[in-house]
Amino acid sequence: MRKRIEVRGTVQGVGFRPFVYRLATSLGLAGYVRNVSGGVVIEIEGVEGAVASFLTRLRLEAPPLAVIEKVDIEDRDPQRGDAFIIHGSVGDPSKSGMVPPDIATCDECVADFLDPSNRRYLYPFTNCTNCGPRYSIIQDVPYDRSNTTMSVFAMCAECQSEYDSPSNRRFHAQPNACPACGPELLLLSSSPGQAPLAPASGSGLIRQTRQLLKSGAIVAIKGIGGFHLACDAENDGAVRRLRNRKRKSDKPFALMLPDLAAACEFAHVGEPDRRALLDPRRPIVLLPGRAGSTLSEAVAPGNRNIGVMLPYTPLHHLLFKDGIRALVMTSGNLAEEPIVSRHADLPRLHGLADHILAHNRDIQTRVDDSVVRCFEGIPRLIRRARGYAPEPVDLGHCVSEVLACGGELKSAFCLTKDNYAILSQHIGDLENLETLEFFEETLRHMKRFFRVEPRAVACDLHPGYLSTKFALGLGLPQIGVQHHHAHIASCMAENRVREKVLGVAFDGTGYGTDGRIWGGEFLICDYKGFDRVAHFKYVPVAGGDAAVREPWRIALGYLREAFGDRLPDLPMLRRIEEKKLRFVLAALARRINTGDTSSCGRLFDAVSAICEVRLEANYEGQAAIELENRAAAGVEQKYALELDAAGIDTRPLIQAVAADVMRGAPVGLISAKFHNAIASLVLDAARAHHLKRVALSGGTFQNFYLLTRTVGLLRAAGFDVLLHSAIPPNDGGLALGQAMICAAGSP
Ligand code: ZN
Ligand code: ZN
Ligand code: FE
Repeated sequence: MRKRIEVRGTVQGVGFRPFVYRLATSLGLAGYVRNVSGGVVIEIEGVEGAVASFLTRLRLEAPPLAVIEKVDIEDRDPQRGDAFIIHGSVGDPSKSGMVPPDIATCDECVADFLDPSNRRYLYPFTNCTNCGPRYSIIQDVPYDRSNTTMSVFAMCAECQSEYDSPSNRRFHAQPNACPACGPELLLLSSSPGQAPLAPASGSGLIRQTRQLLKSGAIVAIKGIGGFHLACDAENDGAVRRLRNRKRKSDKPFALMLPDLAAACEFAHVGEPDRRALLDPRRPIVLLPGRAGSTLSEAVAPGNRNIGVMLPYTPLHHLLFKDGIRALVMTSGNLAEEPIVSRHADLPRLHGLADHILAHNRDIQTRVDDSVVRCFEGIPRLIRRARGYAPEPVDLGHCVSEVLACGGELKSAFCLTKDNYAILSQHIGDLENLETLEFFEETLRHMKRFFRVEPRAVACDLHPGYLSTKFALGLGLPQIGVQHHHAHIASCMAENRVREKVLGVAFDGTGYGTDGRIWGGEFLICDYKGFDRVAHFKYVPVAGGDAAVREPWRIALGYLREAFGDRLPDLPMLRRIEEKKLRFVLAALARRINTGDTSSCGRLFDAVSAICEVRLEANYEGQAAIELENRAAAGVEQKYALELDAAGIDTRPLIQAVAADVMRGAPVGLISAKFHNAIASLVLDAARAHHLKRVALSGGTFQNFYLLTRTVGLLRAAGFDVLLHSAIPPNDGGLALGQAMICAAGSP
């Protein structure tokens, strides 16, 4: 008998065809397998038992990265062939997953390079069809070795025979390599112009690097999508030195731990966290750190959570042999600049690292580590990059081809084609030329890889954003999309919802249609438009953009609104230099360098400063994050906060917070009552507007206390709550929403 089987889902670039080949030949079946748009087509011919067994095992034994969504089976007339053949690809790369993401080293490869009798023993570039670099090395489509940065390495006879043999795990593994023919490590001193430190063999260099790390050195290590700055996370002096060199801020450093057991030693790891840590995409997973751990305090100052990832290249695995238990692995860049990925850029690492462990496999495309946090058992992306980009997001319906340029901070762009949105990896804060170049270069690649020619371009309404200026310079029909409308549309898109929702967009800053800064917005919207049904009442903030780094300035704006000129005698006020205090109050009174905002993020900043949690912030969101970290569990009380279509008045809330501070109430209680008030406000808004669906988006919803509380209240009241998972709720997800709104308005 002969059957034609069509398999849909993620079945390309994941070793599916070789798997089908091995299964079919082991059962003595004839036929073929071929990639087609959106899946593979298989024909098999043989005796009934073998065919039945093939059909069962096709699902059960599929490769780890394959996701089978649908299988259609039809009868065919026998053709009496006796061979089974793998055909080449047919179809369109945007659908066929021809630009697969980078995948962590698989267990079989780990076993290979840890086996002293294996020819890849200790070889740091071991990979196979199921694992290894992909997107970061691809120069052009189709995804063949000749179109990757591996093209300069000619495979040795043994590697070539693995590559050519359908029964081998390395069949058509494009980056296939071994010590005889593949890339090599290089250890450099970080002083400019110096020759390699030691012309030792690869494993010698790794041993040397481990010793350097153990002795407290900072080593820049070339990975998949760029350089990391690494140091021993248990060595306080080393971590502090790195913090001083990299950026003088308290922004948490990511950690790499050798395995799951180590993750459990340093952090509380739930079942969904365990799955996220072991996911072949290997994101950084935010986890509650364990009190009293041996990690340096400087890893994540003032933060309850630590960001943990497990090794994802052979080199990472090998760094943890003998002795090192935890490594800081932070992006190799100065604050704001893109991650260093090229040898020509190595001078940028000179002031940062003591040594550089590089290699000669070029990185074509920079990709940072992705960051997730699990909520309700599902990993939620906070930064979408390595392992996830450029996997298309299925929109569930077809849209026209557009480009959306995103915002400013955490920028990423989005292209659409057919029923897919292709979101770039996290590009970074689009504030300098370096980052803009990275943006433009990635855009050129993606347009070519996915064959998209945008017919319209969407951008933020903010006239000052580089992304906006870039969009305007393209000469395409252009639409400006309101920031918070884009946040909600992004949440709708990943949930495949097109009907009207109540969107709750809480974040720090977004340009409003009235030219003021929005950020605490209730919008009834779909892709065609929005109605701003409620928002926080505007509060003046003095100091422009600089105020974000000085929550005490923001607090003064809120306090002055709530109390007029007679401010209560709060302890925080006594901590501000008299001269500065008077200056800011005068600026507020005369509205000098003062702007109005309805931002929820600024309200968090104000409350954080009023409770003396944080008066000065040195990274984005710090005041709010630390306020969340202080919130006491089990508090049901809340401050009064009334929904009002004319503007939600925060003055009674600020007055109540100040009163609690004055009577010496614990910060944990104040923080919890404040969070509870915001969550209840969302429920009130949902009740007032009679829409079944409520979409929550914006950076403020990265606050898990707020998210948990809000979702709990809404669900209990019967609302259908739309949340982000595949796309960040912060400005990293804006471009998707912009694209949906643009596509809805363009032919
Ligand atoms: Zn592998
Ligand atoms: Zn080889
Ligand atoms: Fe935003």
